[in-house]
Amino acid sequence: MPRRNRTVRAVLALAFLPALASAQAGGGLASRIDQRIDQEVERLAPRIVELRHQLHQNPELSNREEKTAELVAAHLRSLGLEPRTGVGKTGVTALLQGGKPGPLIAVRADMDALPVTEETDLPFKSTKRDTFLGQEVGVAHACGHDIHTSVQLGVASVLAAMRQDLPGSILFIFQPAEEGPPPGERGGAELMLAEGVFGGGGGGGKPKAIFALHSFPDLEVGQIGYNPGPTMAAVDQFTAKIRGKQAHGAYPHLAVDPIVIAAQAVLALQTIRSRSLPALEPSVITVGILRGGERFNIIPGEVHLEGTVRTYKEEVRKEVERRMREILDGVTRAGGGSFELEYKKNAPATVNDPALTEKVRPLLERAVGAGNVKVVEPSMAGEDFAYFANEVPGFYFRLGVVKPGTVSGGLHTPTFRADDSAVAVGMRAMTRLLADYLSSSH
Ligand SMILES: [Zn+2]
Ligand SMILES: [Zn+2]
Repeated sequence: MPRRNRTVRAVLALAFLPALASAQAGGGLASRIDQRIDQEVERLAPRIVELRHQLHQNPELSNREEKTAELVAAHLRSLGLEPRTGVGKTGVTALLQGGKPGPLIAVRADMDALPVTEETDLPFKSTKRDTFLGQEVGVAHACGHDIHTSVQLGVASVLAAMRQDLPGSILFIFQPAEEGPPPGERGGAELMLAEGVFGGGGGGGKPKAIFALHSFPDLEVGQIGYNPGPTMAAVDQFTAKIRGKQAHGAYPHLAVDPIVIAAQAVLALQTIRSRSLPALEPSVITVGILRGGERFNIIPGEVHLEGTVRTYKEEVRKEVERRMREILDGVTRAGGGSFELEYKKNAPATVNDPALTEKVRPLLERAVGAGNVKVVEPSMAGEDFAYFANEVPGFYFRLGVVKPGTVSGGLHTPTFRADDSAVAVGMRAMTRLLADYLSSSH
């Protein structure tokens, strides 16, 4: 892989960004706004990087983002905005009304951290510990949500400084629990919507479009990735109990062995992907937990099985669940046992609205340079931004966070490492995306 060339290109592109942008934009409202944005980003980025360090050192788990929400609300107030707090537990929203008439759009940043013990050499690395599912764990921003929150505070800062010139309004959404609320709790985008984030409570109504970005360790700082259409998968979770009949391990004929049945079920479930669905249809069925038995010489009465299903299309999602029930029914009956299946649908697939994607791609290219905007593969990971993007047209892009010449672990790993220099790029890309979108919809 020509990594060196890519690195040189990325660095060059960064160095010449402002000049490149104004040259490409030509005259007009968008170009004047773009120049202001670049100046403001440069001026404000150091302060926003400090906020990023603060957030990174004080990560909070899903639905526990109290201090984070306080920091966010305080910063929004310092910009003259009137944030609404406690939306969907710890969420914060704020409406920035531009000085000129125009549509309402929204932008979302997620705020929660993960039960991961950070293993990076960052001077501001997290050493925080907390309790998760009854266990003491390290807590870290291993999914880059500190970058998303700080970048969005930066975007709000830049746009607040030039609000008089802004043709329209922007709803800033700081969302808790993107990684999913703890068991038994509600949270995330779905709860924010249920509590009226798109209307009623001071949000200014339903936005015309919604945007979000996510840190991406496969791209270098200066690069942006996106793909049209489905970009993140639907996330389902299943729990199955396979019931048999307990007996001495030496007398299997007196038992109905749920371990043998479960073993057959695990293998048979994989045939849904390979035999029941078209070969070109993306899907994943993973059994993540298979638990049963207490002693080597006892055939247990029950086996517990848990896993996840990832799909893009609603009909495929339904088909997987239907086949899963059929297979569990057939396999357990054949073995003389029975089963119970709980199939829980979490976030639907995140789909980049095709028309919106077409409209914003040139805006992104102008912001970071055409060669730095890459079409990336869709991911089978999930994203609860999908709930927002199911309500109004949405666009979700990936922000390169790896400093050229360094390496980062993957998302959700202890060595995930987003570089500070990604903050200014994220601020510039998102601010210009929002402002140019409003200008072009004017
Ligand atoms: Zn994550
Ligand atoms: Zn994330």
